Amino acid sequence: MTSSFSNLQLAPALARAVADMGYESMTPIQAQAIPVVLTGQDVMGAAQTGTGKTAAFSLPLLQRLLKHENASTSPARHPVRALVLLPTRELADQVAQQIKQYAVHTQLRSAVVFGGMDMKPQTLELKKGVEVLVATPGRLLDHIEAKNVVLNQVEYVVLDEADRMLDIGFLPDLQRILSFLPKQRTTLLFSATFSTEIKRLAGSYLQNPVTIEVARPNETASTVTQHFYSVNPDDKYRALKQLVRQSGITQAFVFCNSKLGCARLARTLERDGFRTSALHGDKSQDERLKALEAFKAGQVDLLICTDVAARGLDIKDVPGVFNFDIPFNAEDYVHRIGRTGRAGASGVAISFVSQSDQRLVVDLEKLLKSKINLEAVEFDEDRPRERINKGRRAWGEDDPRDVIDAPREASRPAREHYRTPKVAHDPFFDRPYEPAQGDATALKTTAEPLRKSSNIKSKRKVAALFKSEA
Ligand code: AMP
Repeated sequence: MTSSFSNLQLAPALARAVADMGYESMTPIQAQAIPVVLTGQDVMGAAQTGTGKTAAFSLPLLQRLLKHENASTSPARHPVRALVLLPTRELADQVAQQIKQYAVHTQLRSAVVFGGMDMKPQTLELKKGVEVLVATPGRLLDHIEAKNVVLNQVEYVVLDEADRMLDIGFLPDLQRILSFLPKQRTTLLFSATFSTEIKRLAGSYLQNPVTIEVARPNETASTVTQHFYSVNPDDKYRALKQLVRQSGITQAFVFCNSKLGCARLARTLERDGFRTSALHGDKSQDERLKALEAFKAGQVDLLICTDVAARGLDIKDVPGVFNFDIPFNAEDYVHRIGRTGRAGASGVAISFVSQSDQRLVVDLEKLLKSKINLEAVEFDEDRPRERINKGRRAWGEDDPRDVIDAPREASRPAREHYRTPKVAHDPFFDRPYEPAQGDATALKTTAEPLRKSSNIKSKRKVAALFKSEA
């Protein structure tokens, strides 16, 4: 359910900014969180990325800070009143940009500090005084130690993507930062999941928080149509090129599991004439920001990235996400495909599954609570002779049930759920950007339970082997 911003009685300066942004109604997280934050209570919020979470905390926070608004040039009149902590530089930059847009008609100042950039310009800005400071934990501690910033007047702290901050190992940094803040404050914690660690963090630092959960954690947006293709590792590149062409997807993130794989894929695509850029942890901060800007400006069609880009980056209207590699961590899948289908737009997520991904796919099925059915890629250059992977699952090559179009198909009853969709004629691709209807986890194709590879022995069998050797 969404509702109108006019119900909130936002200050005119903020209402104007919302109108400038073209928002017509509140998203569910905004409808639930804004009234609570306006009362000054602590919040523990679970919301998917792309749900309008940033406005959900920044608008009420700015509203409550308006009483401190002043035009003085004295830094002392602009102490940090709100601190927003995020795990990555890109997220910090993005959230800071959004806050600037919401505060544009006010006199409240905001700034962002993150690592990988020269500290001097950040120091200059901090020393002039800012009411809202967005930061990554490590760089903020550098500034605290250098006495560039004092946090003893902070009234609000936001721990955004808190689960990711803990995953990265920021807990000690967070604890130190929080020790510099006044005890009397409002704390807002947002996390994709409420794991035991997150609950423990909340237990230590939040006071009687209101829990807000608008989308169940680990749920994929219903606006994203998901396809899984069984592809041998050697054919992934051909499959990518083919599906980019066939699907008509004009811009996409392509996720790889390693920095090296990411760099290699970007180079190869570039060589083949694709407008490509790479975004991974080995790139300098400047290169990463430039790659993102070029992608946002439409100068780059395929952004090849590692999971550094999976969380929270908001780039409007990206029609597609490719998982060139299935992520090692199933939850990252949800974050990766959250790059498309944002704020109600429709998107397509295409994942390549190889033989060695069997365990990852089982994990993913558990998380999505849905069976994953694999499709086969029909390569143009193989038609009409033969498909490159003959429509086999990438594993269990010995299992006769896996063969889709092999001659012996005729000698056994047809099994509808093994039939390979003709990708080229899939009507889905004729209407690429219509919002998908229905259940988030109902994947497009019919389901077929995954079986164990013949190479994986059951525990009992392995134990028996050891016994016989003993
Ligand atoms: P976020 O989840 O904060 O990263 O926001 C995702 C995207 O939704 C951003 O591009 C916002 O500008 C946009 N957005 C936020 N609130 C609204 C709204 N009420 N209506 C439409 N778009 C929104």
